[in-house]
Amino acid sequence: MNINDTTSAAVLQDLRRRPADRRRILFTGATLVTMDADLGVIDGGDLLVEGDTITAIGHDLDVGDAVVVDATGTILTPGFVDTHRHAWEAQLRRIMPDVDDLGAYVMATLAGYATVYRPQDMYTGTRLAALTAIDSGITTMLDFSHNSRTREHSDAAIEALADTGIRGVHASMGPHFGDWDRQWPGDLTRLKDRYFSAGNQLLTLRLGALATDEIAGPTLAYGPELARVAAELGIGVSVDAVFGTASSDAVLRWAKDGILGPDVTLIHSTGLTAEAWKAMGGSGTTVALAPTSDAQIGLETAIPAVDEALSAGIRPGLSIDVEVALSSDMFTQMRALLAIQRMRAVNAVHGTERQPSRITTHDVLDFATLQGARTNGLAGVTGSLTVGKKADLLVIRAEDLNNMPLNDPIGTVVLGSDARNISAVLINGEPRKWDGHVLDVDLTTLRGEVHASREYVMNATP
Ligand SMILES: [Zn+2]
Repeated sequence: MNINDTTSAAVLQDLRRRPADRRRILFTGATLVTMDADLGVIDGGDLLVEGDTITAIGHDLDVGDAVVVDATGTILTPGFVDTHRHAWEAQLRRIMPDVDDLGAYVMATLAGYATVYRPQDMYTGTRLAALTAIDSGITTMLDFSHNSRTREHSDAAIEALADTGIRGVHASMGPHFGDWDRQWPGDLTRLKDRYFSAGNQLLTLRLGALATDEIAGPTLAYGPELARVAAELGIGVSVDAVFGTASSDAVLRWAKDGILGPDVTLIHSTGLTAEAWKAMGGSGTTVALAPTSDAQIGLETAIPAVDEALSAGIRPGLSIDVEVALSSDMFTQMRALLAIQRMRAVNAVHGTERQPSRITTHDVLDFATLQGARTNGLAGVTGSLTVGKKADLLVIRAEDLNNMPLNDPIGTVVLGSDARNISAVLINGEPRKWDGHVLDVDLTTLRGEVHASREYVMNATP
């Protein structure tokens, strides 16, 4: 097999010389893991991107004038979709790698470091998280931005997403503790007008809230009032810290109030009652699992609720949560969920004649792509290689040392690959990673900003 340098500098140069809206890029000879139910996996396939959109998928496409990327020996997949991460905490990475209870996490970060963050710290953390996400193949990231202390804090977080070229979902929430301007949720109207009103744009807005008043009081707790704010703005809602009995009771109240539904995402959803799951499934509510977060930080039962979700008819998205104690990439989430669920399923029937119910590598890849897109309210936009969707895709080198030989494409993506194998990332048709490097970022300058922000936050925190 002849493996070409599929994403060479010359090809990038050629691409960037052409006006982005009229540019045509043809990937040839790739294994296409489309994650589109009708298309499945296509061997030796071609994929055409015109402007920001996938316009053709097939064999031996004849397209006239296009930049041709010989993708022999690679797998093309949709970009991964992260359904929940607190990006502003990125300069606090691995600051508490062994934290094992929610209270300790909350006191150190939300009641501590968060209170001294300036707008530029929001910018630096959010940008760092987004660039890292792109490097590891995450093309859509829901930034649950829960440190909106002032208008300027929100502006900085949004501008950081915009500056990286990621498909960003800004879920805005006020801070849990400390002094703040109380501009949230009222300021969402201004944010929507300023940043989210252009058609066909990369960024979308959601409202962030908590499940109950247990952590930070009633202001941040989801209910009819915040649901009305979101409805008036026409935006979705992502609810964090959904776990245990109190959240189960809240879910039943929301069901009664008619404020669950496809536009509402419940994050974690660990240790919920059967009644709560029934209400969620019946209303089409979406779920963002956080497999490593549940286990590491010890959220309620600490078991990612994938069986519960599937039983309720909900195919969940996956999420990273916080880098203070967790890995930042989607490969980790897929593998952790697969291992945990299999352990749980096999263990549950150990010593009996019953068959364990299992999820497959295809399932976790579906959760990490198409279901993530649906969870973030972007099902028609991204999450699969489908004609008409935006070109958010990864070129994964299938014949690298750790992946050769390519025996099963989905197995190779889910179990074999990591960020080093992702040679190129396109978001909205635009190359954001090429030849193994994230584009348009000066690492030396970025490093300076990250270190300076970290020093400030450390020193200023009481
Ligand atoms: Zn969270």
